[in-house]
Formats: sequence, C-alpha cells, structure tokens
Amino acid sequence: MENNRIIIAIDGYSSTGKSSFAKLIASRLGYIYVDTGALYRAITYFAHNCGFIDNKCRIKEDWLRKTINNVSVTFKQTGEGGKSETYLNDANVEKHIRSMEVSNKVSHVSALPFVREYVDGILHRLGEKKGVVMDGRDIGTAVFPNAELKLFMTAAINVRAERRFKELQAKGAKETFEEVLKNLEERDYIDEHRETAPLAKAEDAILLDNSYMTMEEQCAWLGGILKEKFDIDF
Ligand code: C5P
Repeated sequence: MENNRIIIAIDGYSSTGKSSFAKLIASRLGYIYVDTGALYRAITYFAHNCGFIDNKCRIKEDWLRKTINNVSVTFKQTGEGGKSETYLNDANVEKHIRSMEVSNKVSHVSALPFVREYVDGILHRLGEKKGVVMDGRDIGTAVFPNAELKLFMTAAINVRAERRFKELQAKGAKETFEEVLKNLEERDYIDEHRETAPLAKAEDAILLDNSYMTMEEQCAWLGGILKEKFDIDF
C-alpha cells in the first residue's frame, strides 16, 4: 500500500542476523534496505588505508575529520545474484570492509561523534521518503526516533559467534572461533558503552531473540505485527 510506507528500524547486537532479516523484509515490501554498519565499515576502511588508524586502534582524529567529506559510500547491485555491494569512492570494497581487520577497528571509529554525524546525514537523506528498512545500532534511538516500527534483535552470544564463524569460514577466512567470539564481545561492549548514541533498545522497540528461531518463524512473527499495527500484508 503506497500510502502507508513506514520506516522500519532494526537495531541490535552484532551477528544477530539483522541484515539478512532486514534485506528480506525490504525485498518483500518493495522497500529500500540500508546497511548502516557498512557505512561505518567503509569509513573505517578509508581511515585504515589513509594510515589514520593503527593496529592499536589509535586514531588520527583531526585527519579523519578533515577528510571525511571525501568519503562517498554507495551501494550497487553487483554481487552474486544481484546482491548489494558497498563502494567507496567508486571502488568495490565489499570484501575489505567485512575483514577482521576492519571488524576489529570499526567500533572505535564509529564511537567518534563527527563520524556519527556524517553517517546520520546520509541516513536522514535515505529515509526522507520512508519505505526503508535500516539495520544498525542506533536507528530507533537516535537516527529515526520516530520510526513507525522498531525492532531490537538479540541472540545468545555463542549462537551469534557460531553464525559469524561459519560465515567467515565460508569466505575462506582463517580466524578461529575464539577470535570471532572475542571480536563480537569487544564490539558489543564498545557499542554499548560509547557516549554518543550507544547501542540500546529503544523503549518502544519490540524485542526479538532469535537464538532458536528460523527465518520463516521470524517472518511469521513480523507478519503478524505488520498486519495488526499497520495493515501491511507481508
Ligand atoms: O552491523 P555491523 O556489524 O556491520 O556494524 C559494524 C559496526 O558499526 C558496529 O559494531 C558498530 O560499531 C558500528 N555501527 C554503529 N551504528 C550503526 C551501525 C553500525 O555504531 N547504526
């Protein structure tokens, strides 16, 4: 229904399947899907390439602040089966931004207020016309506090680490399960404890713990909410 297009904000912990769920929702509703984590990852990759962040995650903030306006992040359907991929200033960086190197640094970069401000500007433009599904950490609390529907996703830490580990293994990555688990725990901690827009469940967000739920079960659950609250068929 064209006249009841809404903003769906999906926040939650790392590797809870937010992006897979958000993508599916967007494709079934004919909405735009925005992977907000990819924006933070692309900026982190940019900072890494420019030598603005070292292996101890010390950041040359002034340099990043001065150059952040040169960062242009776009999404193109160039992946296998038309999958969306992230481009940084016209270079395909999809593979790089998912690396452990970037995963280990991204929460430090995303904690910087000027980085968040820059990303928020992009997100506000993308959400202007509604009909979007955005997944991230602060969409329902800070970016779109008036989003019509807010979900907050969580799952047991071991289940999340196992999912992420399998994903990385399928891509040929060499990280051990323990390294993946440690990265998730660290990111959760930094994301929850930063000063600006920390990861938190918005009061009016609906909690979804999908530790033991299939995608079909999650869809059935959401379908009920969309119908009841918004009269949207899913
Ligand atoms: O979603 P993903 O795991 O790709 O996000 C990578 C990182 O980007 C998160 O750990 C977090 O530090 C940051 N992020 C954020 N706010 C968002 C989305 C992601 O701070 N809305």
